[in-house]
Amino acid sequence: MDVDRVADLLAAHRRVVVLTGAGVSTASGIPDFRGPQGVWTRDPEAERLSHIQTWLAEPDVRRRVWRQRLAEAATRPAPNPAHHALVELERLGRLELLVTQNTDGLHLEAGHEPERVVEIHGTNRRVVCLECGHLQDMDEVLERVAEGDHDPHCERCGGLLKAATVSFGQPLSPRQLARAHEAAADAELFLALGSSLTVFPVAELPRVAADAGARLVIANAEPTPFDHVADAVLGEDLALLLPALVERLR
Ligand code: NAD
Repeated sequence: MDVDRVADLLAAHRRVVVLTGAGVSTASGIPDFRGPQGVWTRDPEAERLSHIQTWLAEPDVRRRVWRQRLAEAATRPAPNPAHHALVELERLGRLELLVTQNTDGLHLEAGHEPERVVEIHGTNRRVVCLECGHLQDMDEVLERVAEGDHDPHCERCGGLLKAATVSFGQPLSPRQLARAHEAAADAELFLALGSSLTVFPVAELPRVAADAGARLVIANAEPTPFDHVADAVLGEDLALLLPALVERLR
C-alpha cells in the first residue's frame, strides 16, 4: 500500500521539503488550471489572460479582472484540511521548506511561519506597481476599485498596478528560486502535492531532489511526467490524504 509506505517514509525522514500546486486548494473552492474541472480545461482562452503582455496591452482585460477580484473578495476562500495538515507537519518539526506555486495565500493564512514558505509564483493578496515596485495590500486597491477607479494606477508614480503574482512572461525571483533549489537538493524526503508538474522551472524541483538522493513522493489526482522517478505515487484527494498521513505521525 503506497499510503502505508508514505507514512513510513514520513516517519523515517526529518528534512521534508514540500512543493504544492493548485490541487491543494481545490477543496477550498478554487479551481485548478489543468485538472478535469480546471479553468484552462474548460476555457482554453483563459490561459491568454495569464500572460503579462495581455495585462500590459488590454485595459478591458484589466478592468474585467479588477471587477472580478472585487466581486470575489466578499467570499474569500479559507484554508482546507490539506493546508492545516501541512501546518501540523511544520509544528511537528518535520517541515524544512514549503514551496508553493499557488498564489492564493492560503498556506500562510493557515498559520505557517512565513520564513518556511516560498510563494514562488507570488501572491494575489498583494498588489505591485510594475514601474516602481511599490507593494500594497490587495484590499487597499480593491477599495479604490469599489469607489469607481476601474483601472487603478500607482499613487506614487502613476505606473500600472497588477496582483503581485508571476504571470507568464515574467521572471521568477532568482533569490526565491535559488532557495527552493537549495532546499530540494538538501531534502531527505520531497513531497510534490497537487501539481501537474508542467510549469517550469518549478516542475524540475522533484527531479533535483531525487537526483540529490531524496526519496520522492508524488500525490496528485492525475498522472504527472515525473511519476516514474518517484518512490511512491498517490492519487487520493489531498484534503483527506494529508490529514490522515500527519495523524499517523503523531
Ligand atoms: P495544475 O492545474 O496544472 O495541476 C493541478 C493538479 O492537481 C491537477 O493535475 C489535478 O488533477 C490535481 N488535483 C486537483 N484537486 C486535487 C485534489 N483534491 N487532490 C489531489 N489532486 C488534485 O496546477 P499547478 O501544477 O499548480 O500549476 C498551475 C499554475 O497555476 C501554477 O503556476 C499556479 O501558480 C497557478 N494556479 C494557482 C491556483 C491557486 O493559487 N490556488 C489555482 C490555479 C492555478
